Amino acid sequence: MYQFLGETLTTFYQSSKQDKPWQLGYSPYQIWIYEIILQQTRMAQGMPYFDKFIKRFPNIETLAKSSLDEVLEQWQGLGYYSRARNLHATARFISENLNNEFPKTYDALIKLKGIGKYTAAAISSFAYGENQYVLDGNVYRVLSRYFGETTEINSSQAPKTFYAYLEKIHKNFDSQILNQSLMDYGAQICTAKLPKCSECKLNLHCVAYLSNQIIHYPQKIKPNKLRNRYFYCVFYLNEDVIYLKKRIEKDIWQDLYQGDMVESEAFPDKRFIFPIKEKDFDLDWSIQRLTHQKIHIKFAIKPIESFDLNTLGEENFYALSELHRIPMPKIIDTFLRNLR
Ligand code: SF4
Repeated sequence: MYQFLGETLTTFYQSSKQDKPWQLGYSPYQIWIYEIILQQTRMAQGMPYFDKFIKRFPNIETLAKSSLDEVLEQWQGLGYYSRARNLHATARFISENLNNEFPKTYDALIKLKGIGKYTAAAISSFAYGENQYVLDGNVYRVLSRYFGETTEINSSQAPKTFYAYLEKIHKNFDSQILNQSLMDYGAQICTAKLPKCSECKLNLHCVAYLSNQIIHYPQKIKPNKLRNRYFYCVFYLNEDVIYLKKRIEKDIWQDLYQGDMVESEAFPDKRFIFPIKEKDFDLDWSIQRLTHQKIHIKFAIKPIESFDLNTLGEENFYALSELHRIPMPKIIDTFLRNLR
């Protein structure tokens, strides 16, 4: 069963080779950025962000010398902003401590901020040919269906169980090719919805297929209920400038910019910098869905003229013409774009 899987995947790889960064001779730095962006986004959506990011920060040195705001601004729209913060912190660490040399081994890579087992294995395998096993969502899906493995893939036991399969499969094959072919097979043939079982060469041994149980694999622990959160957000502005404040809470959107914003299910009348009434806010909630949270925001606009600028703090004013350079949560950026 293991030998058959390895041979089938290797044959698939030869016939369906795609242009991946490592096949195109990309640097380890570019592979790192590619892996971080594509972890959270589908290829078609992620590639324009990857191209834009690499154009703006072509190497470690440029990324390290840039400000966090510049990096977050390029990341805007991708979500998971902690990944952008980690990229920036790690680039600075490599620049200051490793003479801009990207680490070459799994053991050195795994010590860097924001680089977990998956990314360290992917970079060391794809950039340096190290014998490491890459385990991502596609790999989990193919293996759990093929072997009929019932361990939930989001449980703490999952990595141990699935690495054990990989160890046996990789034994007689080139790790780099097997890693790539498993990931591609999950993305192209053994897809999450409507897998192409009738044309799949693995169907001779696939436990899920032979038992007609495909929809039950991979198994997962049900995530906690979605958390609803409600915010009120005021923008003080005049023709040229707008009041914005960096979000410092260790919460969603840390280091991104927002207006005068408070969280509450009921209208929080006394907690804004200046008194605001409920009728000043939009009637409807604007909504953004995050992985485990649903964010609801009501927006209001107030002219600055009548306000005390000292109270708002001069450093919190930004030229309206510069808004596109300021990193903001997507929901806030969309609201402000509609004003322009
Ligand atoms: Fe996936 Fe279907 Fe192939 Fe099994 S037979 S590995 S479920 S595509």
